[in-house]
Amino acid sequence: MPLNRRRFIVLGGLALGACSSAAVPRRRIAQGGGAIWRREDERVKGAETWGRGDAETTERLAGQEIGPAGLYAPVRGDVRAVVISDMNSRYGATDYRAEVLTGIELLPGWQPDLVICAGDMIAAQKISLTSAEVAAMWESFDRQILTPIRAANLPFALTIGNHDASSLKRQGEYVFAVDRQAATQYWQAHLTALALPYVEATGFPYYYSFKQNDIFYLIWDASAADVPAEQLAWAERSLSSPEAQSAKLRIAIGHLPFFAISQGRDRAGEILNHSEALRSLLETYRVHTYISGHHHAYFPAHAGQLQLLHCGALGSGPRTWLNRVDTAMQTLTVLDIFLEDASTVYTTYSMNTLQVVDAQQLPRQIVGPTGRLLRRDVASADLSQAERNQQYVPSAN
Ligand SMILES: [Zn+2]
Repeated sequence: MPLNRRRFIVLGGLALGACSSAAVPRRRIAQGGGAIWRREDERVKGAETWGRGDAETTERLAGQEIGPAGLYAPVRGDVRAVVISDMNSRYGATDYRAEVLTGIELLPGWQPDLVICAGDMIAAQKISLTSAEVAAMWESFDRQILTPIRAANLPFALTIGNHDASSLKRQGEYVFAVDRQAATQYWQAHLTALALPYVEATGFPYYYSFKQNDIFYLIWDASAADVPAEQLAWAERSLSSPEAQSAKLRIAIGHLPFFAISQGRDRAGEILNHSEALRSLLETYRVHTYISGHHHAYFPAHAGQLQLLHCGALGSGPRTWLNRVDTAMQTLTVLDIFLEDASTVYTTYSMNTLQVVDAQQLPRQIVGPTGRLLRRDVASADLSQAERNQQYVPSAN
């Protein structure tokens, strides 16, 4: 559907209170019949070329306020990615929550160069699920998630999550061999369908790299707590290559994070082992940002020289941060990258309200079992004495 004319879209399943005028300062919204109707304004002219990720499109769109009709429209960077994560419902489910389907429907409205998924696209990782059941989940993902994204001409990058195909091994064998086989089969059939300019893809979908708009992306298999040793050697070779080092920016993506940020995830197996060594590897080769999922809570952080984008869940089971009592929310993050000063801006939407999450309301720091993590706008020197004294309190659940 061309976007350079007025049109109406219906977004079902959203809370009626979601779109207060405060949430949508730029566009008027009318409402009726239990659905929310949004009128598109004239701003998105020229959108017919969105998502191709080519330099000309990117240059033309940079600096413009661009977002789906009715939502806050962030200023577009030189490069824009929309980052989604943790979309699955209960084990074995072939359906997706309304927030997921709405998020997918909204994606083209941000006119990104790329959609990044930080893992957990289906709901496997249960031994009793059969090959047919796992294949049915990938079919459903294909129909409801990937097909609309590719129909909108948006390139799609993914990292494998524990619910997709955990790399956990016991006595040298994959514990979830059925999942592993199904994911390999599904994704290898889609290797060329994702519109990614691969640099290396022999390990796809588990580990691979691509370069788009002068940004080098490295994806490793963090679907369990240990990134396999051979992949670390590959990552080092890959990140030190001229292809990576000559890029204006390097971004790494894996499902598990370095730090525990949410309740119920502050234990071994839910965060990467040897995280300091892994972070040091990324820092050595000047990786700008590590994008992760799995903890189901949005938290923009930094550690050393590395920016850490912890994605919230778009699907079931959002969680709140350690040591907090906030209501958990489903989120989606627009990542704008400004190449000149290598800076990034995150615009994160609560998919329950469609309002932008106020970063100032997020914890200033999260103290977990492996250390203290600061929000990206907070420096160590900014911490009060009380904050410095804050100790890790294990979550109850
Ligand atoms: Zn996960």
